[in-house]
Amino acid sequence: MNSDQLAIFKAIESKQEIFWRMADAIWSYAELGLEEYRSAKLLADAMEAAGFKVERGVAGMPTAFVATWRQGSGKPVIGFLGEYDALPMLSQKAGVPKKDPLVPGAPGHGCSHNTMFVTQALTAVTVKEFMEKKGLSGTLKVYGSPAEEILTSRPFMVKAGLFEGVDVVLDNHGDSFFQVAYGMEGTGMVSFIVTFQGKTAHAGAFPWMGRSATDAVELMHAGTERMREHLPTTQRTHWVTLEGGEAPNVVPDRASTWYFIRDLDENVEKNFQWALDCAKGAALMTQTTYEVKTLGAIHQRFPNKRLAELIFEHVKTVGRPSYTAEEEAFARALQAECGYPVVGMEYPLKIVSPDSEPLRGGSSDVGDVTLVAPTVSLRFPVRVPGSPSHHWTVTAAAKTSIAHKGITAGAKVLALSAFDLLTDSKARAEIRSEFAELTAKRPYKSFLPEGAQPPLGFHTALMEKYRPAMEKHYIDP
Ligand SMILES: [Zn+2]
Repeated sequence: MNSDQLAIFKAIESKQEIFWRMADAIWSYAELGLEEYRSAKLLADAMEAAGFKVERGVAGMPTAFVATWRQGSGKPVIGFLGEYDALPMLSQKAGVPKKDPLVPGAPGHGCSHNTMFVTQALTAVTVKEFMEKKGLSGTLKVYGSPAEEILTSRPFMVKAGLFEGVDVVLDNHGDSFFQVAYGMEGTGMVSFIVTFQGKTAHAGAFPWMGRSATDAVELMHAGTERMREHLPTTQRTHWVTLEGGEAPNVVPDRASTWYFIRDLDENVEKNFQWALDCAKGAALMTQTTYEVKTLGAIHQRFPNKRLAELIFEHVKTVGRPSYTAEEEAFARALQAECGYPVVGMEYPLKIVSPDSEPLRGGSSDVGDVTLVAPTVSLRFPVRVPGSPSHHWTVTAAAKTSIAHKGITAGAKVLALSAFDLLTDSKARAEIRSEFAELTAKRPYKSFLPEGAQPPLGFHTALMEKYRPAMEKHYIDP
């Protein structure tokens, strides 16, 4: 390690505790997508206090923001993506290795997003200080990215032109290992709600006067179930019934269903159109009407290989943090409780490509960013190995010293990577030329339907239901 790298490590360690505390506070707020008012304010205020110029409420989302700082010529421009939204139903006491909700039924940070923007903030604030000390030119843009769990924000941020002129983007995600990937990841996706409108009637006395919206939802499900057999095997199609009537003796005049249609980018729009035909057919069969609301429409991810290699060098430099006997004991107890391999805090440092890891079906709205600027996501260790995303075990670990160590380790890797990107024009040119090949093959076009807007208020009622009970557990940053 050279003296610049050592200085970056020291600078991160000198302020890590402030950022750990912020991650704990966001964990306690556990705000759902587009409801992250408290979390976004805390983070945007922190960036402003650190000397960044902050633009709030960007791309039509009150909880989205961009924090920018520039020096000299302002080139190159390095972007950092950071998330802070929680998931429904995943409340859990921190550091407790068995299922024990803090507020039963309430949202929780079951995907460790409470650690993610915070890690980018620690990175960017450190890199800014270092650029000032060294007189380096460049711009740092840190994107406060809400509502990843409903796969919403990034296509709207791209559409608003927020990534124009950005040379390279460093993304991150909390995980149970240190990893970067390149090539093609995950699935493209359209998330949409279909609401059918019928007529109420006494279901016993005058059923002929009613038209059942619930029947329409059931027929739409039957239609897409038949459709599924004839789609490419890369697809994933799933739904939940949101509203389906309230009493058998009242013909329901309103029912709705929420779909995720996922597949390779080249198939996803066709599959979506077929599902819409199923909605139309269901409405015709039941003499109901229907409306479609698109919540998100996103691309697969295409992370840049050269950038992944650059970051992976620093994953090796930083390595796994060392863990105390207490942390190891917590990990082992949690693994035993859930039937995961009992390996403690043992996990690999990995660089993976589509050849070494088959396509997995998850999606992220970071996909759209990978098609407008060369981008890689660093997966950094803030969980117990074996613990899967969207699970109470993630909430349990995301406010512990294990998560704190992960934040510091992740920030070190990202800061060393950003330093390289600022100073190594040859690496930047290689990254950009690989990106030019990608965009020649896959020119960016948003999957968002014409006139689509961010679904503001989607989670308001759910958040309001639990906030009073959650407030008692809020942690001061
Ligand atoms: Zn996540």
